[in-house]
Amino acid sequence: MKNLVLIGGGHAHMVTLSKLDTFISKGYKVTVIQPSDHHYYSGMGPGMLGGTYQAEDIRFATKRLVESKGGTFVKAYASRIDPMKRLVHLRESDETLSYDVLSCNAGSYVVQDVIEDSGSNVFTSKPIEKLTEAKETIVEQLSAGVSSIAVIGGGAAAVEIVGNIHQLCKKQVRRPPTIRLFCGRNFMSGKPRRVKSLVRKLLLGKGIEIIEKGYVKKVVAGEITVENDTTYRADIIFQATGVRPSALFSRSGVEVGPGGGLKVNEFLQSTSHPQIFGGGDCIYFTDQPLDKVGVYAVRQNEVLYNNLMAALEGQPLERFKPGGDYLVIYNLGDGEGVLSKWSIAFSGRIVFWLKNYIDRKFINKFQSN
Ligand SMILES: Cc1cc2nc3c(=O)[nH]c(=O)nc-3n(C[C@H](O)[C@H](O)[C@H](O)COP(=O)(O)OP(=O)(O)OC[C@H]3O[C@@H](n4cnc5c(N)ncnc54)[C@H](O)[C@@H]3O)c2cc1C
Repeated sequence: MKNLVLIGGGHAHMVTLSKLDTFISKGYKVTVIQPSDHHYYSGMGPGMLGGTYQAEDIRFATKRLVESKGGTFVKAYASRIDPMKRLVHLRESDETLSYDVLSCNAGSYVVQDVIEDSGSNVFTSKPIEKLTEAKETIVEQLSAGVSSIAVIGGGAAAVEIVGNIHQLCKKQVRRPPTIRLFCGRNFMSGKPRRVKSLVRKLLLGKGIEIIEKGYVKKVVAGEITVENDTTYRADIIFQATGVRPSALFSRSGVEVGPGGGLKVNEFLQSTSHPQIFGGGDCIYFTDQPLDKVGVYAVRQNEVLYNNLMAALEGQPLERFKPGGDYLVIYNLGDGEGVLSKWSIAFSGRIVFWLKNYIDRKFINKFQSN
């Protein structure tokens, strides 16, 4: 019996997980490794932090789905792949899992390089499930009189997080604490000028301070120092800077891209080990580096499913075509958002309404399995 092993039940594995029974009915054994029983949908993560959604609204019941389809769920972190012996090592035990075909969707993580103390009031934008803890801490601290909250980062995740922290505070207390966004010197770097200006206007309108005097140099004991040596105090600190692919591959003797992601060809197949496939934030797509956005992970679903089946059956593989520009909607809290596609950009309540509609449709499609 051939073994298919999946590492991570992330956004690129949604179709494979929902069709797991098609592998089982052909006589393959399927094992899914994930550290949590649920996988959280990042697109709705900031909304959960802001209190628009509950944790149950934004997560997929991976364990329940896998077991209902006849697969085996292993609650663990894959710590290393041995591509020569075709084994996956787990962090929690000495047990190893052997595979004939392996698919990796282990995502990415925030590099905590400036924060020297990782106390209970320090959070990162990923993993998404930790945003529940962050929300609880903020609510608790607000009643204890917290006076300042800081978000470090200037990209999409940072602006969504800061906007939703404001929403959360506004719901809890009459006078929200000082909320600052430390975005280095380039607010929303690489984004169209109109998008930057719409997001900036919305955030400033909420009273959020945008600090652009330089990058954060260090954070020690709740004190944030920026490059020009100005310091700011913060009771709660979020790091929402860029993400890096899972460190799993650098430890595994497989070919990796510049950021350490699994290097894959146009078939989403490892360039060094043809039995290994991958999708989402954890890969480096050789043909064209892809933005670390869920959109690409979602687009990879069908091809990944088809190629895993083809690899088991000895059939030809399908090419992944990343597709053109994608729709981006920033949820900035208080029911407002900014939409951007091609050269179009606008803001307002209708934008958040649209995002909520699209996100709920996506999650309902896979939650109902
Ligand atoms: C706050 C925030 C908001 C965002 N909003 C959007 C948005 O609106 N639209 C958009 O397109 N993108 C958005 N992104 C980007 C998006 O999060 C990522 O591109 C997306 O999560 C990538 O999906 P993934 O499945 O590859 O990784 P992940 O979502 O990180 O999923 C990886 C899965 O693998 C599991 N896993 C991790 N390591 C291991 C291991 N070693 N062994 C086994 N399992 C493992 C994890 O538990 C997780 O379930 C947002 C990001 C953040 C931080």
